[in-house]
Amino acid sequence: MPELPEVTTTASILNRLLPGLKISSVWTDYNSPFHKGKDNIKNPPYFEKFKRNVTGKKIISVSRRGKNVLIELSEGISLLIHMKMTGHLLYGTYKTNPNSPNYLIPNKITNSQKLKDQKIQKLKIKNSHWVNEIWTPNEPSMSPLWDPFNRFIHFVICFENGKCLVLSDVRKFAKVIYFNTKEIDDIPDIKKLGPEPLEKSFTFKKLKERILKRPERPIKQTLMMPEIIAGIGNIYSDEMLWASGIHPLSKPKNIPDKDFKKLYKEMVSVLKKGIDFKGDSTSDYRTPSGERGQFQHQHKAYRNTGKPCAKPKCKGVISRIKVGGRSAHFCPRHQIKF
Ligand SMILES: [Zn+2]
Repeated sequence: MPELPEVTTTASILNRLLPGLKISSVWTDYNSPFHKGKDNIKNPPYFEKFKRNVTGKKIISVSRRGKNVLIELSEGISLLIHMKMTGHLLYGTYKTNPNSPNYLIPNKITNSQKLKDQKIQKLKIKNSHWVNEIWTPNEPSMSPLWDPFNRFIHFVICFENGKCLVLSDVRKFAKVIYFNTKEIDDIPDIKKLGPEPLEKSFTFKKLKERILKRPERPIKQTLMMPEIIAGIGNIYSDEMLWASGIHPLSKPKNIPDKDFKKLYKEMVSVLKKGIDFKGDSTSDYRTPSGERGQFQHQHKAYRNTGKPCAKPKCKGVISRIKVGGRSAHFCPRHQIKF
């Protein structure tokens, strides 16, 4: 799942490309009975309202809060996009193929069409190349937008300049909503979020205070709770614990001050490094130009199970355990369990 460094990379690139552009149309084939009656574009009547409120507006800015991309539009409207497990935003020239066997009339998906769609999705994942997609890049074949991970397009915003912002999302878990910009602090997705770990006001004291809100829970799990600290997930929590020498199962109440200080320093450094490398493409994540981030080549713990620990003179071997239903990767030799 895209975490703070991936969402920061996406938002800052889009903030250079999109401001000033006018929205000419929006499209989706998200449609889920589970979202019936909910404020989510997967609910067709909501998407109709979304369309009316968004078409014709201009982009003012793109920013990030937690793992959400926030797009401010003219006339007091904003969009929130949470990419969830596999979503990522791309920007370029696209064309549609209404003759595609995958082509579904938006919002009118019957059960048999849905089954067919699922079968095609499975086949597409297996083949891992573009097969009659509804939306395809209208760009040269060497463009990174043609990366097969970019072909699961389920939401599109087109602009008057002929380019589009598209959301590729193989698992279809992403969330897209619109809201009144001035009510931003009241929408549940934002309201529940803890502080931002890279803000100047987020000091060592603040980190300790936040983490100690869950004194008994394993530190790995606490670091990933968005209501405790915003934006940290599985990859970066593994990496910051490895770098600070703290075992993922440590109880926050037992962690000495000097180790909390180390964790604070490594948290800032690991997240900044993630941004410097334009995010992590171990999984589906791509930058808006369709390219891979490079942080996956920097892992010291995440998915390094069985490899020798990279810490000088450590001689440990990276292990994997389950913590709160998620995998934690760590070095049992130099990461101390408090
Ligand atoms: Zn080690």
